[in-house]
Parts: sequence; C-alpha cells; structure tokens
Amino acid sequence: MFDYKKHGQINPPARLLMGPGPINADPRVLRAMSAQLVGQYDPAMTDYMNETMSLYRDIFQTQNQWTLLIDGTSRAAIEACLVSAINPGDKVLIPVFGRFGHLLTEIAERAGADVHTIEAPWGQVFPASVIKEAIKKVKPTMLAIVQGDTSTTMLQPLEELGEFCRKNGVLLYCDATASIVGNPMLVDEWQLDAVSCGLQKCLGGPSGSGPITLSDNFVEHIRKRHHVEAGIRADHHQEGEGTRIRSNYFDLPMILDYWSEERLNHHTEATTMLYGARECARIVLQEGLDNCIARHQLHGHAMAKGLSAMNLELFGDKSHKMTNVVGVNIPAGIDGEELRKVLLLDFGIEIGTSFGPLAGKIWRVGTMGYNARKDTVLTTLAALETLLRIGGHSFTASAGIMAALEVYAESNSFNNV
Ligand SMILES: *Cc1c(COP(=O)(O)O)cnc(C)c1O
Repeated sequence: MFDYKKHGQINPPARLLMGPGPINADPRVLRAMSAQLVGQYDPAMTDYMNETMSLYRDIFQTQNQWTLLIDGTSRAAIEACLVSAINPGDKVLIPVFGRFGHLLTEIAERAGADVHTIEAPWGQVFPASVIKEAIKKVKPTMLAIVQGDTSTTMLQPLEELGEFCRKNGVLLYCDATASIVGNPMLVDEWQLDAVSCGLQKCLGGPSGSGPITLSDNFVEHIRKRHHVEAGIRADHHQEGEGTRIRSNYFDLPMILDYWSEERLNHHTEATTMLYGARECARIVLQEGLDNCIARHQLHGHAMAKGLSAMNLELFGDKSHKMTNVVGVNIPAGIDGEELRKVLLLDFGIEIGTSFGPLAGKIWRVGTMGYNARKDTVLTTLAALETLLRIGGHSFTASAGIMAALEVYAESNSFNNV
C-alpha cells in the first residue's frame, strides 16, 4: 500500500543543474506550464499552436510552413523525422562523432534503412570534404547528422553540406537538440531539410517536447506516404502512392494534418508541454536570438577558462566546441564519480560524466539556457575548487574564479550580470 503520510506531494531537493542537460527550467516556463488546460479544438488552443509554429520559425531561422512540436522528448522528434522519411531499403549516410550519431544509426536501422556510417574519433568533427566524398561514394537518399553532440561537446560545421546535398538529391536531416539557441542554426541559409531539437538544453525548458522544422522538399517526400487512418478518413483524402509509414504515433503526414487548418485529429496535443515550449521560444526571442547565443558564448568561455586555470585539461578539439558545454579530463588521482556525488549531495550542484569511451574519463559542465549566468559559473567553480583541493589536485588558490572574473571584466557584454 502506498503510504500517503510518508510520501507527500512532490518536493524535489534544490539543485543547480550544471551538467549537459537537463538544466533548471526558467521559472517563466514553469509558470506557463501551471496554466489550466483548454480543449484541443478550442480557438485559444489552436491559436497557441499557430503562435508556437511562428515562434519556432524564428528559433530555427526559417520560413518553413511546417514548423511544429512532436510530443515526446528529443528522441521522439528524431524518430518522427527518420521513420517518416526513410523507406525500407533506402540508403542513409550517418557521420558518427559521438553517442548521438550512434543513436541516429540505431533509429535509421530500425526504420529499415541501409545505413552507411563514417566515424570520427570522439572529440573531433568531420571536415565537410570527408562527408561530401562519402556522399559521392554511398549515394544515399538521406544524410542524417548531429550538430552538437553533447557526449563529446563537439559542434559539427554544417554550412557547406546543404547546398551539396540539394545538388545531389540527398535529404539532409539534423539533430540540433544540444546546440540550438546556444550556437548558430540557420536552417534556410544552410539549406537543411529537417531539423529537430528538444527543450532541455539551451532553450531552458523541461524534456518532453521536440520542436521540428521541415522544408517543402522534405514534406513533398513524406507526403508520398500519406495514409489517413480509418475512422477519420473522408472522401477528399487521397492516398499517397508510397508505403505506409511504420509508426502511427510518428507519422508526420498525419501529424501535419493535425497542425494544418484542417485540424484532422491525430493524438491529443500535449497541452502543458506546448505551453512550456511556447514560453521557451518567447524568452529566447525576447532576449534576441543573437544575444542569447552571445550569452552562451560568454558564460561557456568563462567556465572553460576557470576550469583550465584549475589545472584541468579541456577535452577535444577546442576550435569545434559547442559554446554551452565543456568537457575536462578527470585528473589522475581523483575519483570522478565520487567527486560528482559529493558535489551533488553537499553543494547541490550537478555536473555530468560521459558515455562509451569517455565514461568516467571526462566531466561535462554545461552553461545552458536559464543557467548560463555569471553567478552559476562562479558558484560551480568555487565548489569544484574546494573538492579538487580536498582530493589533492594542486593549483593556485582561487585561480578558477579569478580566470572567470577576468573573462567577465574583459567583456563589455550587457549580459555580464
Ligand atoms: C541531449 C540530447 C538529446 C536528448 O534526447 P532526449 O530524447 O530528449 O533525451 C538528443 N540528441 C542530442 C544531440 C542531445 O544532445
């Protein structure tokens, strides 16, 4: 029997989430999410849906009509894009430079793709020339790539890929979950066909909603597989000639019908998540997208400088780092997991380790969304200094904080608060 006396209402411990995500949600987002529900066809709700589409066009820097939310975490948004676009047997090229490239591979394989991968060592990215060569060789129908792979903290440049893909008739899908609004993401300028993300990184919300944007080109491709389900099908619905999409929940053509003026019922839009996603975008656009990216740059830089000054070696190719998360090698003689535990339980601060080849080898420290601030950077550096010194790691006292303060002193940014 559930003991109501022992287990009260949810009341989580106070934590400062300075890992690779999730991060503390912006209080404005939490307030939006406590608003009462309305029916799914209430004009208030459909207005919110249209407003959300419009807000995320600005976030993605696109004119794409089909810019909307997938209900589920970032992985749901990835799966919707891939399972709707990939016909079984299609060749898909995936450059893998960390854990999330492997995730794209896994999802594409399950969708029945003939997957071809190229791999870069964790901590590096691909030169565009290597990807272009692989496209020429494999001749895929789709290139699926991660922009910022949080497992390694690296940011893959995308500028040159879109044009090349269009010329070669290749669809370009990108997972921008970790990087969006902390690093530039110019969907139209870079000619990306489908981009998905989540809220729990630089957008400053909880996980559970996956914004996506789809080019006309991509929509034309998936609409060939448009099959409206029985029970809601009407005479004017024409069957696409393509095979039925293997997932009902992630069937994008049907989801587009729901987000279109026809409002053809699919799932029940996750109202509370939509309230949250809408507020996340409003916060970023009110700050200004460029200012938001600059803020991530400033605080990420201050954190990296502070960690370096404490004699910690930064992980990976410094010229291709995301602004919003930094990896450091765990110094010899320090038990990385033990330090993370004490940091969490005694200081209330969470940082991350990594996965696969980097598990237990690096810590990842994020400065994202609501937590990309001067006070959070200084607090985290101070706590880390204490625990590193207790662990016997040697460096000049206060070096981390002083280095970060120097970054702030040199910056004229109005974000320096
Ligand atoms: C954090 C992250 C995700 C998260 O996926 P969820 O389903 O929201 O847990 C996906 N992709 C990348 C690149 C990420 O960094």
